[in-house]
Amino acid sequence: MKSIKSKTKTNIYLMQPLDEYSHKKNIHTINATHKKILLIILAIILLILISNVNNKIRKQKEAKQYETQIAQEQQKKEEEQKQQEQKRKEEEEKKKKETIQITEQGKQNFETIFHSDTKRAFLTFDDGPSTITPDILNTLNEKNIKATFFMLGTSAEKYPDLVKTVYEQGHFIANHGYSHVYSTIYASPQAVLDEFNKTNDIIKNAIGNPNFNSHLFRFPGGYAGGKYAQIKTEAKQLLNENQIYNIDWNCLTGDAETNNLTGEYIMRRLQETSAGKNSLIVLMHDAQAKKATQEMLPQIIDYLAGQGYEFKTFYDIFTQ
Ligand SMILES: [Zn+2]
Repeated sequence: MKSIKSKTKTNIYLMQPLDEYSHKKNIHTINATHKKILLIILAIILLILISNVNNKIRKQKEAKQYETQIAQEQQKKEEEQKQQEQKRKEEEEKKKKETIQITEQGKQNFETIFHSDTKRAFLTFDDGPSTITPDILNTLNEKNIKATFFMLGTSAEKYPDLVKTVYEQGHFIANHGYSHVYSTIYASPQAVLDEFNKTNDIIKNAIGNPNFNSHLFRFPGGYAGGKYAQIKTEAKQLLNENQIYNIDWNCLTGDAETNNLTGEYIMRRLQETSAGKNSLIVLMHDAQAKKATQEMLPQIIDYLAGQGYEFKTFYDIFTQ
């Protein structure tokens, strides 16, 4: 019994430190648990913070992307509008060239073509197309200038592709008759009109435009005087009745005056015949035999531009 009591006592004694230890251990465990929870909370807070920052960055990125997208769409829209406007203008220009409708203003412009308040020059090339037409076109393109080509029926028949190129590059195609043989074309006023129509048909076919009519004619050898003066006067009347108008020139490069054509001669004749005139209709030739004119064309253009002339075509006259 004693021993049992004593055992109990001991047990109690033993239990106490054991409990104390256990309590301490518990406190330690609780502290550790707290720390763990704290760490977890901290980790969660950190994760939330990181996530928030990430969200913010993502949102900023998205906003930026959205802005860029909007700006790109706006730019695209503006470009499309520009292209449409350009296309509309081109079609309008094309239509103007397809059917040259001479307005009342156009008629007045034509009647007063040799008189102008401002300096202007109409470069005109007779007798083509020819083997030198591509070189003439190259120079005109380089200088960004449009000219007028008085095409001959026989030449247009020979080089239909060149007729088309001249037309498509925006130059004015006018009519110089078919044969260039005076005794043939000036056989009668009707012969002049017939040659105009024949040549116009050749041009129509070459450019693929059945409505084309330049309404503009240049008499081979010029309108005034000569052996066929009377026929030409009557032919002019007949042409006018058919809404066809004729034009000569008041300035030249002298390329029809001599067989020994030099650059110096061309520039001298140009200076002499342009002096003191505001409105210039410059006569030149588009023919292999007049290659000197084509070779001097850059200087001819530079000289006239240097004198303050602006370059025009008959589109500027008829359709304004
Ligand atoms: Zn000619």
